[in-house]
Amino acid sequence: MSTTVKKRYELPFTGVKEYKMFINNEWVESVSGKKFDSVNPFTGEVWAQAPMGEKEDIDLAVKAAKEAFETGEWSRMTGSQRGKLLRKLGELIAENTELLAISEVVDNGKLIREMLGQVKSLSGWCDYFAGFADKIHGETIPVEVPNMINYTVREPLGVVGAIVPWNSPLLLTMWKLCPALAAGNTMVIKPSEVTPASILELAKLIQEAGFPPGVVNVVTGYGKTAGDALAKHPDVRKIAFTGSSETGKLIVKNSSEHFARVSLELGGKSPNIIFEDADLPNAVNGVLAGIFAATGQTCMAGSRVLVHESIYDEFVEQLVERTGKIRLGNPLDMDTEMGTVAFEGQHQKVLRYIEIGEQEGAKLLYGGKRPTTPELKNGFFIEPTIFGNVRNDMRIAQEEIFGPVVCLIRFKDEEEAIAIANDTQFGLAAAVWTRDIQRAHRMVPKIKAGTVWINNYRKVSYASPFGGYKASGIGRENGSYVLQEYTQVKSVWVDTGNIITDPFKIL
Ligand code: NAD
Repeated sequence: MSTTVKKRYELPFTGVKEYKMFINNEWVESVSGKKFDSVNPFTGEVWAQAPMGEKEDIDLAVKAAKEAFETGEWSRMTGSQRGKLLRKLGELIAENTELLAISEVVDNGKLIREMLGQVKSLSGWCDYFAGFADKIHGETIPVEVPNMINYTVREPLGVVGAIVPWNSPLLLTMWKLCPALAAGNTMVIKPSEVTPASILELAKLIQEAGFPPGVVNVVTGYGKTAGDALAKHPDVRKIAFTGSSETGKLIVKNSSEHFARVSLELGGKSPNIIFEDADLPNAVNGVLAGIFAATGQTCMAGSRVLVHESIYDEFVEQLVERTGKIRLGNPLDMDTEMGTVAFEGQHQKVLRYIEIGEQEGAKLLYGGKRPTTPELKNGFFIEPTIFGNVRNDMRIAQEEIFGPVVCLIRFKDEEEAIAIANDTQFGLAAAVWTRDIQRAHRMVPKIKAGTVWINNYRKVSYASPFGGYKASGIGRENGSYVLQEYTQVKSVWVDTGNIITDPFKIL
């Protein structure tokens, strides 16, 4: 494990890295032999290649996962044995923090300073859910039927398909993998085509930890082929999806063909609400963390900042001043505060939204361009961008931009703040900044969102449920609650002495 913090981190190899994918504990090419490139968004160059998995590859992976679930060594393991494997995985992740973090940074341009901390935190997910692995149980039910005992058992679902996006591949995979395996399921993971590498690095550790063949499989490939085949596969009992709301709709449609369960973690347009009595410098930092950390590419981005009209000008002054000091640079440098957008298509999309904002009449207060300094010119950078005088009905306030663009909207009182906060198709997260605890708690039940932070932004934990209202999703991840999403209930009736005299009368 690396203990000294370096100034700049480097890939531990030169040239293009050739990855294989992971099916039934074997490292394989795709059936077609085709591959796709992963581009480093800081250099604009190909740094890795991964197999282009398609339907045939998904079929092989689901077959392996089904066999592991039904008849393999995994099917005979106890909860505590599964927990032990998860804890071992956590140890290996901690030992390999640097490599995992670097792989993700060169795949999607996230900051190494964020990724080192994020990867370290993943062992916490392993330990937390390992602790549940031997504590998943049903209950005895007082049915009040003479001479009958009724009890329930909680059983795993079977093969779980995990489809994950490019913005936080490792974290969002672990949010699914840890509870799914603790409960005894097996998995086929389909990473985003933009970021195949860090999940394949994780698969090496899964193998090293000693999970039996077929328990975890990783098929790299495109959404329209590999992802589609996984969602449609009749032997997949649940799809755990994180991604856009548009793809989420397709997942529901396709998985409904065979009545697979779904959990959907989708997009957001989350309001960060600043009252006149907030600690302003702290709130400004919270706004920066909400939108510019991870270059705005988080589902929970605080992309709409609602500011009380009496402090609007002062808030703008402080935010613009602080934003002007954000250091853009190589995401592998520990000093860098904002990295690139993850890939070219996303870069173009964000720049298009900035044009739309200007056309709609919002006031560009800071940024809005691609930087041209020599160090940044090859990367998919966009300056941190602040729009003022935004109306909530503008497209930039309603549509998910998924980039470093924040919309400032004025409000006059609590009622208007709530109305604006809820006037969106989404409902993933929100924050309230105020020193008045009564006001803060008055706001919480009125905000239609799955997470509300009071005087903070972007905190998550393995112990706290996370998920969305409305178009932001179905179901929750994390916390003990999520185990319900990866288990099903069986009701068992035991007759202790009845004689069936009338077979046509049940009650
Ligand atoms: P996306 O929907 O384009 O892709 C997500 C995954 O779905 C990828 O693996 C992709 O290959 C796959 N996919 C695409 N089309 C598919 C299809 N037809 N069938 C099956 N799979 C398919 O999303 P993205 O651009 O990778 O990620 C960004 C989105 O993810 C944003 O909307 C963001 O808000 C959301 N997100 C949500 C959360 C959350 O927890 N709510 C977290 C992170 C990201």
